[in-house]
Amino acid sequence: MSDDEKSLVVSGAGAAGISAAITAAQMGCPVLLVEKSQNEGGTVTKSLIHTLGGIFDSSGEFINNGITKELAERLLGAESFTKKRQIGRTWTLQCAPDIYGKVVKNWINELPQIKLMLNSFISAVEADKGSVKSVTVTGDKTAVINITDLIDATGKGETIRLINPDLVINNEPKASAGLIFILRGVDPDALSFPNNVKYLHHIRSEVKKGALPPALAGTWFDQGVYEGECYVKITVDADTAKTSSGFTDKLRDDLISCLRALPAFSKAVIYKTGAQGLRDSGRTAGEYSLSYEDVINARKFQDAACRCAWPVEFWDNENGVALEYLRENDYYEIPLRSLKVRSLENVWTAGKCFSADYRARSSARVAGCCWAMGEAVAKAVCKR
Ligand SMILES: Cc1cc2nc3c(=O)[nH]c(=O)nc-3n(C[C@H](O)[C@H](O)[C@H](O)COP(=O)(O)OP(=O)(O)OC[C@H]3O[C@@H](n4cnc5c(N)ncnc54)[C@H](O)[C@@H]3O)c2cc1C
Repeated sequence: MSDDEKSLVVSGAGAAGISAAITAAQMGCPVLLVEKSQNEGGTVTKSLIHTLGGIFDSSGEFINNGITKELAERLLGAESFTKKRQIGRTWTLQCAPDIYGKVVKNWINELPQIKLMLNSFISAVEADKGSVKSVTVTGDKTAVINITDLIDATGKGETIRLINPDLVINNEPKASAGLIFILRGVDPDALSFPNNVKYLHHIRSEVKKGALPPALAGTWFDQGVYEGECYVKITVDADTAKTSSGFTDKLRDDLISCLRALPAFSKAVIYKTGAQGLRDSGRTAGEYSLSYEDVINARKFQDAACRCAWPVEFWDNENGVALEYLRENDYYEIPLRSLKVRSLENVWTAGKCFSADYRARSSARVAGCCWAMGEAVAKAVCKR
């Protein structure tokens, strides 16, 4: 890409941004993928998500074809432990976050049309008459890039905020944040249903007795990808999570001390601790805002970008998780207008910061759906 050439720029290399960049590259569009941290992968790899939702419908069939299906096939082909897994009334793809990280890294590397800039971010945007002309990318060096289109896949509308802060809405109820860590060396019997429930009750009763802090009442366990592996999820208030990582580290350590006193966990060791994950950190104002009613009534749209059937899954700090399911074998659609930023001709968004109310977002933010949104936006942009 030469200095005076125009390029599609994608801000954020998480699920939606990677998907948008790969799709654009597959369509022959050169793309600059700008990621603020040192690795691509986003929340899935950083916060250790091992059950990818939004890939299958309620019968376990692929809900979207295209890139989400290709992702699943690549993940299944990369390691025999990756598998389709039913959890309650939903289907997920269970995969180690490390494997996911490797697969997406290799996939990006296969495509010379993608220029990936890690440790970089867009520090300024030049817009004129409702259209963005160029962005300044700051990393090792600073460069001004002329753009065709801009896709904000930062999960929080960070780049759109630079154009106009009023285009990022951040005043709705926020789902709680989460800290996930992986234990290994746990007795596998302790992790299968209904034994896992027994251990969760134990934690809750320790909280009631005052032996563990109240913040641990919403702790969740899940069997991991490998034998004896347990994913432990601590629920944290989103504002506390942003300001204090020491607080969650202390919670994790208290919890592990309590668990190690139980025979099934006596040999448990921490394999990895994820970064605190924020489920909600701002969403963009689009030409359409997907509503809770659209989701729960399985609404279809003429300008459908992709499908989703994941339940409305709202994580509340006090009351834990509440799930509201769609009708069996039904799905809603996400309109392309909710991925198009209002009043800006060539600016788009994809992933968890797309334009939707907070309850609609608590369904559509699952990783598979973010991949499908990224694909739809890139197709819309590259076809123009
Ligand atoms: C605790 C927790 C548990 C979850 N559990 C599940 C689950 O079990 N299954 C499931 O499917 N989903 C789960 N999710 C949701 C899902 O993982 C995310 O919603 C989804 O991965 C978001 O993808 P995204 O591409 O929109 O954003 P992200 O994956 O967050 O990617 C955004 C990227 O943008 C980068 N970025 C941010 N700001 C800038 C900037 N200014 N410039 C450049 N780059 C920037 C970030 O570093 C990041 O890499 C969970 C989320 C959390 C927090």
